[in-house]
Amino acid sequence: MIKHYINGTWLTSESKESLAVHNPATGEVLAHCPLGTAKELDQAVQAAKIAFKTWRSTPAVDRVQYFFKLKNLLEENFEEISKLITLEHGKTLAEARGDIRRGIQMVETACGIPTLMMGDHFEDIAPGIDCKAVNRPMGVFGVIAPFNFPAMVPFWFWPFGVATGNTVVLKPSERVPLTQMKIFELIEKAGFPKGVVNMVHGGKDVVNAMCTHPDVKGVSFVGSTPVAKHVYVTSTSHGKRAQALGGAKNFMVVLPDAQLDKAAATAYESITGCAGERCLAGSVVVSVGADTAKKIEELVVMRAKETVIGSGLDSKVTMGPLISQAAKDRVKALIQSAIDDGAKVLVDGREGVDQLPGYFLKTTVLKGILPHMKIAKEEVFGPVVLLAESDSLDSCISWINSSSFANTTTLFTTSGAAARKFSYEVDPSMIGINIGVPAPMSFFSFGGSKDSFFGDVKAHGNACITFYTDTKVTVERWGSDANIWSQK
Ligand code: NAD
Repeated sequence: MIKHYINGTWLTSESKESLAVHNPATGEVLAHCPLGTAKELDQAVQAAKIAFKTWRSTPAVDRVQYFFKLKNLLEENFEEISKLITLEHGKTLAEARGDIRRGIQMVETACGIPTLMMGDHFEDIAPGIDCKAVNRPMGVFGVIAPFNFPAMVPFWFWPFGVATGNTVVLKPSERVPLTQMKIFELIEKAGFPKGVVNMVHGGKDVVNAMCTHPDVKGVSFVGSTPVAKHVYVTSTSHGKRAQALGGAKNFMVVLPDAQLDKAAATAYESITGCAGERCLAGSVVVSVGADTAKKIEELVVMRAKETVIGSGLDSKVTMGPLISQAAKDRVKALIQSAIDDGAKVLVDGREGVDQLPGYFLKTTVLKGILPHMKIAKEEVFGPVVLLAESDSLDSCISWINSSSFANTTTLFTTSGAAARKFSYEVDPSMIGINIGVPAPMSFFSFGGSKDSFFGDVKAHGNACITFYTDTKVTVERWGSDANIWSQK
């Protein structure tokens, strides 16, 4: 049974509404996720507010001891968590292991908070006057997660919020609550004090209650662009800090001097890994020159035909299902829109899948993609390789920068000069050079720009200190008479 975790206690939701959680490989209903209420969110916020009073003054070196314990518990339960991710999300076991591994890395980095959150001190900013700045926790923070990384994404935020001395309320995606149920069992085992880390399940009612709650100081969000914008606008207009990471449309450019076999393999994996349900998934592969385009096309089509779909628990399977029938229908409709707009089908991943249980699509490869097409503008979030051709790096950069999204982009080349020009001129905030997925590393900051990110301060890395703390500056003058302390 899916329960809230509030003030160190597992609570059954009073909500009458719930959402069925499916195994997307079979369609089997695994559980029902309660769609919690604003009242339950308030209960969690009040618990977190009370816990903050003592947690904030618990020395950082003591706070991180809970994270060392949690790291070990996560390692001990690594395979069980990976299987849960595959079960409720559908990605392959290898991909699920990557999901939890990156999450654990966030916990490891949070263990360094005593060093990371140190402030500044400067003597004699004026004669006899010193100045110090300390980074202080602020109170209760909310975290809202998407479905596509059931383990990793919540870890992008709450360990940093909590290690810096704040308390948190997490709302996992209602489509994949099981992974966080297991992780919260481990959070409980690690012994975090009551109320420091809370979890409330639900959908938009819980999100809206979090973004408007007077005792929530800030909100960290990841999800689709329309909801990211809504969360950012609502939270900031209610006086909160907000960082909202949204959707994407990621372009991959192949120059004629690239190692084409490696470029094709890397682009293919980027687009179809996790069945395309990654915010860093490549989407449009733009080859410069007809010869480059022809070679990339041959290599990608070959790979698409080799893809083995099925349950992610089967080691022979290379691609799992999409999250839901609705997601599958949406991707199929986008493929059809591209064909209607004049794209040519090289491999049709819609064929031979409808008789399977679950929500499978095979890889689709379309060529002749042009900037005006709907599929060239919208996030696909499915295994669809879009092939396009261009005459120069400059026109590729113009295309990339005309997109309303700016999450990530990749260049395949052996030219340092081209790589430098590309990194310098493109809008997206995460750049891959001969890398298909410039993955979020815990010790670097992460987040896109334009419609892929709403906010000023990005996730994890050094940015986490800026987001989760307030800098307090004290200017001090203590006089120059050294004898004032002597006991005469
Ligand atoms: P989503 O926007 O549907 O849901 C995200 C969260 O918002 C969920 O917790 C959900 O309960 C809540 N929500 C949904 N609709 C809402 C509404 N109308 N009002 C208030 N809250 C609402 O996103 P998703 O389908 O779970 O995740 C996929 C999306 O997330 C993709 O667009 C993907 O690109 C994006 N994503 C982005 C990043 C990134 O780093 N930029 C990372 C992962 C996923």
